[in-house]
Parts: sequence; C-alpha cells; structure tokens
Amino acid sequence: MEFYNENAVLYIPDGASESEALPRTTDLCVAAHQDDIEIMAFAPIVKCFGRSDRWFTGVVLTDGGGSPRTGPYADYTDGQMKKVRIEEQKKAADTGKYSAQFMLGYESSCIKSADKSRKAVDELAAVIEACSPDILYMHNFADKHDTHTAAALRCAEAVMRLPENKRPRKIYSLEVWRGLDWLCDSDKVCLDTSEKPELARALLNVYESQIAGGKRYDSAAIGRRLANATFYASHDTDRLESCSYAADITDEIYGGSSPEDIICGYIKHFEEDVRSRIGRLS
Ligand SMILES: [Zn+2]
Repeated sequence: MEFYNENAVLYIPDGASESEALPRTTDLCVAAHQDDIEIMAFAPIVKCFGRSDRWFTGVVLTDGGGSPRTGPYADYTDGQMKKVRIEEQKKAADTGKYSAQFMLGYESSCIKSADKSRKAVDELAAVIEACSPDILYMHNFADKHDTHTAAALRCAEAVMRLPENKRPRKIYSLEVWRGLDWLCDSDKVCLDTSEKPELARALLNVYESQIAGGKRYDSAAIGRRLANATFYASHDTDRLESCSYAADITDEIYGGSSPEDIICGYIKHFEEDVRSRIGRLS
C-alpha cells in the first residue's frame, strides 16, 4: 500500500507478502497510540494467536511523538521517542504473532481535528478494506483521552465510507482510559482474556518506554481484566478468570446513529438502572 505519511510503517512479522498478510486478517484493531492495542485488545490477539484460520492485525494512527518520557527516556527528543515507540510496537506484533501491524504516523493534533483528519480517514478506510476483517475493534466514544475518542470517531467515519458489502460483520468498542464497567450488563460484552496470561504480560512489558516512568500499564491492564471477570455477575462468565469489556456497536453504527447518540444511549440505560434500583429500595 502507498501511505500518506513518509514515516508510516507496515510491518509483517512473519515476512508474508502484503497481498497475503492483509486479506488473511479476521480481527482488526484500530487504536490511537502504540500500546493501546495491547491494553484493550488482548482478547482477539490471544484468540488468533498461533492459528492459521484467524489472524489479528493492528493499526496505530499516531506517531508516538507526544509520548510522556521519564527515567532513561527523559532526554529523548520527539524524533528519538517516535523511533522507540515504533520498535516497541513491532516487538508487540512479533510477540503476539500478528498478521500485520500498521503505524500510519499521523500527529495527534491531526487525528483530533475533523478537518485535518480527512486524509487519515480515507487511508484508514483503505486499510480496513484491504484487510477485510470479520470483526473490527476500536476505542469507545466515552474514553476520556481526547486522542482515543478522536480515533474512535475517525474509525467510525472510515467504516461508513466503505460500501456495505466491504464492511466488517461486527464492531466492538473497547476500554483504555475509562473502563466500561459502568455499562449495564445487558449492554456489555465480555471478551475472554483468560488464556495465555504469560503472553498478556509479555505484550504489555514490551512498552518499556511507557512503564519506565512508573505508570504500571502492564499491571493495571491485567488487574482490570481480573476485576472485570470477578465483578461481572453472570453464570455465563463464571468460567472466565479474566475479561475485557466491550460494547457491540455494530447495529447502531450501521443504522446511522451518531457517536453521541450511541454512547448516550448506553449512559441512559445506566441512569435508568441506577434510578430503578434506588427507587425500589427507597
Ligand atoms: Zn493511548
């Protein structure tokens, strides 16, 4: 594929050709930054791991330029930091045996602007079309990190640009900066992250530059998954030791609902649940 940004990377861990690696993708995750995929999408990564009939591909929209840096990375320039983050994401793709890893190399400010991101949306639509995934995973519209929310908006726009017969069958939005524990259980999908805990940890430990400053994303992501499984009261998921929460937004997106309406619909259900419980007990 031709990319808009010179610094864009398409990395194929097993060395397959592009024409093999992209169409074999069944599970595609679109994220804002290097490390978001490994925090939010371990369920599809492990589901596809080591299989020949399911393949995971990641897309990172931004260039990692604004990454926080402390400890041994404190004096790194933006340019040096971008390189480190590309190498980390490649290592994650190797570790998780991804089919392919895109890093489209946009500045955060570009992704956050509806106007400036038009090319990014076009490019993302072309990536999704080339990968033709069965399932698409993205950030959720209630994430409290602006770039994550913007990435979700751009991803939703990109999907809607595709002809109906080229669109993924399912779209899940996932949790990073703000968990999805607040979703009503009827609106919640539990994605199983119980298998291969050593792989889950290895994928997060790749991001040394982010963990070095004392932000333990590795422990936090794994802890959240354990907490999710423990506090989700359903017989269906009693067998799960660890899970990530997701919202299945397929019907809303394809039905033409706006991002605000989609997420506020879930918030309304949450409000109704809280009001009705308090009402019953007062
Ligand atoms: Zn992020």
